[in-house]
Amino acid sequence: MRRKPDEVDADFMQPLESLPIFLSLAGRRVVVVGGSEAAAWKADLAAASGARVDVYADAPCAKLLELARRRGEVALHAGEPALAGAALVFGVLEKDEEALALREAARAAGALIGLVDRPDLSDFSMGAIVNRSPLVIGVSTGGAAPVFAQAVRGRIETLIPAGFAAWAAAAKAWRPWVKASGLDFLARRDFWRRFTRYAFFALEREPTAEDRDALAAETRAAAEGASSGRVVLVGAGPGDPELLTLKGLRMLAGADVILFDDLVPASVLDFARREAQRINVGKRGYAPSVDQGEISALLVKLAQEGKNVVRLKGGDPMIFGRANEEIAAMREAGLDVEIVPGVTAALAGAAALGVSLTNRETARRVQFVTAHSKDGALPQDFDWAALADSRATTAVYMGNRTLPELARKLIESGADPATPAFLIERASTPDERIVAGTLADLPEKVAGQEVEGPALLLIGASLRP
Ligand code: SAH
Repeated sequence: MRRKPDEVDADFMQPLESLPIFLSLAGRRVVVVGGSEAAAWKADLAAASGARVDVYADAPCAKLLELARRRGEVALHAGEPALAGAALVFGVLEKDEEALALREAARAAGALIGLVDRPDLSDFSMGAIVNRSPLVIGVSTGGAAPVFAQAVRGRIETLIPAGFAAWAAAAKAWRPWVKASGLDFLARRDFWRRFTRYAFFALEREPTAEDRDALAAETRAAAEGASSGRVVLVGAGPGDPELLTLKGLRMLAGADVILFDDLVPASVLDFARREAQRINVGKRGYAPSVDQGEISALLVKLAQEGKNVVRLKGGDPMIFGRANEEIAAMREAGLDVEIVPGVTAALAGAAALGVSLTNRETARRVQFVTAHSKDGALPQDFDWAALADSRATTAVYMGNRTLPELARKLIESGADPATPAFLIERASTPDERIVAGTLADLPEKVAGQEVEGPALLLIGASLRP
């Protein structure tokens, strides 16, 4: 039985507590009701966004007085707030009746109302802000945990250095130039991809017109070359999405198309853009697979169409992943391939056991083998002496089915029947399971269990816990 590559839709959006939108307030009227420091902060934010701000406060705090002095667009008033023509109304009010009355008045005036500390009565809330304007990031927990939102904001702050603002501003300023540059749609996308990559390297300095011209020249050169598309083989890691590398994450986030195996967890695919095309090419030891030639041909075709293709493979792409066939196909077609390593199953297995695969005295060698030959049987051309070597640790991929025969042959080849041996299923995932035994008794122990997820054997004297 053969499978065809099947394209998988990105799911529709899961329920959202609130809809993040970014309001353009330049020249619009915003009303703030209240005289406290919190009211001053809201007025300041609105003014920073370009709004004309009218603050209604009978007893304005010092901060508000200073704000009105420093910012021409903030005016202080006393008495009944006039809400006509307001886009937004902020209220910082203690009493419920006042809050409710302001809400009614705002609704009547057709304005959205945000009441500080009263998410239940509000149309919107502000969230925590990371300001690299024109790059602006808002973090909201739906008012559930502002402290949590602040912590998330803090993390994002560290990810996006302050220098990013200048590059974001340049992106905005250069956009018309790039549009008029004669680069076609795909090339312009390529330009912005290059721009982003470049910006992360050059954050410490201001972007210049020379940067812009150099990027455009690079883009043109690439467009005139054989193809501007490329393929990256990315290791998805053993299952825990946190074991994806930062580089793999970045590649996924920039991919137009992702070809993935059955082994790749959905939680890793979630890092891709929503619009990215996802294609399951379901390769897996025993189950029906898409033909390898077909996968390679698809990779070449997509890259030649100018797409940014990520070939996502479980674990590390260079370990029992038939990467060579895909790399050869790409090179033959004159296309570049980049490789992003991943955490291979054997390493997740060692982590699961909490035992080192190497030991200064007893295991100076680690060997990765597959116990699954082309026809699914145990390979007969193993170096049995090496496998039975008591001073080496052996990781056996796809070894679940042939375990009884493998164990028997190892013992026949001189391995100690008491050598510690483990089957580790779904290493690094919440369903991780370890069956512990020895070369002599592991087959029997495993036979009594249903092993459905990917499983690996680790064998070696040094693995004795
Ligand atoms: N390139 C992958 C291996 C692909 S071969 C890597 O580097 O890990 C597929 C085999 O890998 C499975 O049959 C199983 O033996 C092993 N494997 C992959 N993920 C695993 C996991 N989470 N737990 C245990 N074994 C795993």
